[in-house]
Parts: sequence; structure tokens; C-alpha cells
Amino acid sequence: MHNGVALSASIMCVDWLNAGEQLRQIEGNGIDYLHFDIIDGNFAPDFTMGSSIIDIFRENSTLPSDYHLMVEEPSRIFESFSISKNDNYTIHQESSRNLHRNLVSIRRMGAKVGVALSPATPLTSLEYIIEDIDLVLIMTVNPGYKGQPLVPQVLRKIKNLKKMITDLELDVKISVDGNVNSNTIPEMVSAGADILVLGSSSLFRKDISIPEAISEVHATIDLGIQKRKQKQEYE
Ligand code: ZN
Repeated sequence: MHNGVALSASIMCVDWLNAGEQLRQIEGNGIDYLHFDIIDGNFAPDFTMGSSIIDIFRENSTLPSDYHLMVEEPSRIFESFSISKNDNYTIHQESSRNLHRNLVSIRRMGAKVGVALSPATPLTSLEYIIEDIDLVLIMTVNPGYKGQPLVPQVLRKIKNLKKMITDLELDVKISVDGNVNSNTIPEMVSAGADILVLGSSSLFRKDISIPEAISEVHATIDLGIQKRKQKQEYE
């Protein structure tokens, strides 16, 4: 947690040949969650990790998991993943035939409940479920591959979601996933992001080390918080 913003490390972007060392660096430098993207090659293209790989990270880390299932009918595989009390468990609005029932199942499994929205999915789709969830994950790119450009309307979406949550007086966190980096973090944080999913353009970079990358993320979060405060003063 830095200045009220939580950091979630996107494990699909790890350097697999140095995964153990990178996990130690993540643990020691103020990262709050391990973000696991689970992709079925159906709802989203490509494949990522299954439970056997995820459990190795969980066993070797004290950090809670931030599950993100990009999977058609995710309830089919709810049993596959280990859950602890502080884990986030997020499924896509677009992929559940009975979203509310699935959210109740996740709550019963003991995790915090999240709903993810792809770039084209409107916020109105949250209208009758937002009271029942702990977080909304806003995707700034289409589900699937890493390293895609940001869809620009996303900043407006974060702002509008923040307003919706404030108006309803709810404690729902906003998580932002995809293209989170030095260029985009100030605007995302200023718009209301509470959790940043850090991947190949922010945390797992080729040009700087993980501790250096985290310092840069912290500095850009501070810029975002400053912007947010300035905006509030004008209003
Ligand atoms: Zn994700």
C-alpha cells in the first residue's frame, strides 16, 4: 500500500527463469497482492497458469492472491483454486450466465468478491450487483495478451465508477488492470484507482530492477494523489 493505493504484481509477466528471485523482491518491497490471470483460451485467447503453478507461488509467499478469471462460465472451475480469507476473487461480468449466483458462491468460498469489466462493457451492468461486491476490476485493454495499448475511454470509466460508488456510499475498491505504467498511473490514480495491477510495463521491466520499478510506481502514485487533491479543491 502506498498513499492509499494497493499494488498487485501480475505474475503472468514474471521472468519465469528467475521467478523465485523475483518473488522475493516483490515480497520485500511493499507489493500487496499476487495477481493471477487465469485464461481459458475461450473467453480470452492464449493460456496462462493453472492451479499447480499458482499454488507454488502461494506456498512461497505471505501475500494474498488477487485472482482474475478470464474464463467462460468460471463457476466450472471455482473448486480448482485454493482460497484464503484476504484473497480477491474476480470474475468477468461478460462470462457468467448467472453472475449473481456466482458472486454468492465466491463469498461462500471465503474470498473477497470482484467483478471485472472488459473495455466495451458499460458501468450500468453493475447496477444490480454493486452492493454485493468488494471490488470492480476495470480492464484498460481487451482480455488476453500482455503489452497492449490503453483504451483511452477507460479514464472516464474509472471516474464515473468512482462517482457511482461515492453516490451509493459503498466501500467498493476500483482495481485497474492493463497498461498501468509511469505514463498512465497519475491519471488512473487521480480518477480514483485504489488497486493497480503491475505488469510488464511497470514492475517486470527489462531496463530497471524490481525495487527501482517500485520506487518509480510510488512516485507516480504521489503525482496522481496530488492531481486528485487539486481537482477536489477546484470543485
Ligand atoms: Zn488481470
